[in-house]
Amino acid sequence: MDIKQKLKEDIVCISRMLHRKNYLAATDGNVSVRQGDLVFVTPSGVNKGLMESYQVLTVDLEGKLLGGEGKPTSEIRMHLLAYQLRPDVQAVVHAHLPYATACTLAGIDLLEPILPEVVITLGGIPTAPYATPSTEEVPESVRPFVKEYDAILLSRHGAMTMGKDVTDAYNKMEKLEHTARVVLAARLQGPLPPLPEAEVEKLRRLREEYKRGGS
Ligand code: 13P
Ligand code: ZN
Repeated sequence: MDIKQKLKEDIVCISRMLHRKNYLAATDGNVSVRQGDLVFVTPSGVNKGLMESYQVLTVDLEGKLLGGEGKPTSEIRMHLLAYQLRPDVQAVVHAHLPYATACTLAGIDLLEPILPEVVITLGGIPTAPYATPSTEEVPESVRPFVKEYDAILLSRHGAMTMGKDVTDAYNKMEKLEHTARVVLAARLQGPLPPLPEAEVEKLRRLREEYKRGGS
């Protein structure tokens, strides 16, 4: 299988996983992978549990359609912004995570250092202000966070994650939703206990090591 076909198959595999895990419903969400000047991306309005590799489109870094039939995702500008600002990013995933989106509705800030592995692997999860889905407002709302964070919550909408490949971006989505579930469950019992400042410092040092390790 040539590399382009393999990347398209990877997009299909991750899209089905997102659907199976209820990280999105029906035609929600979108997935892209960059290869040099090319971006392979899910078409707009397709059920991510049923999509097949022939439906994955190819666009350039400006979003111009180069291959395939149909319209690229309506959130293509958000994906392209990530590739423009982060040369290290090779894949972007957008999903409508139920628990993480509930956190944005309940005003729960996942940027707070609550769980140690989130501080180490993601540094924290900021929430971008509300933006009308599928409009230019979405990339503008995430722009201030894209350089520093790999996982960003979109208020009342979902989340965006970035990675060195599509599995890496997906893993961050799974971690985000898992974190949201833990936090919401804890919130039912009362206020969230913060991590002590000295421990947060230790975790931040571990994060620097983690980033140097490149995973
Ligand atoms: P598309 O079907 O255009 O990818 O849109 C899904 C979505 O999640 C919009 O925010
Ligand atoms: Zn969306």
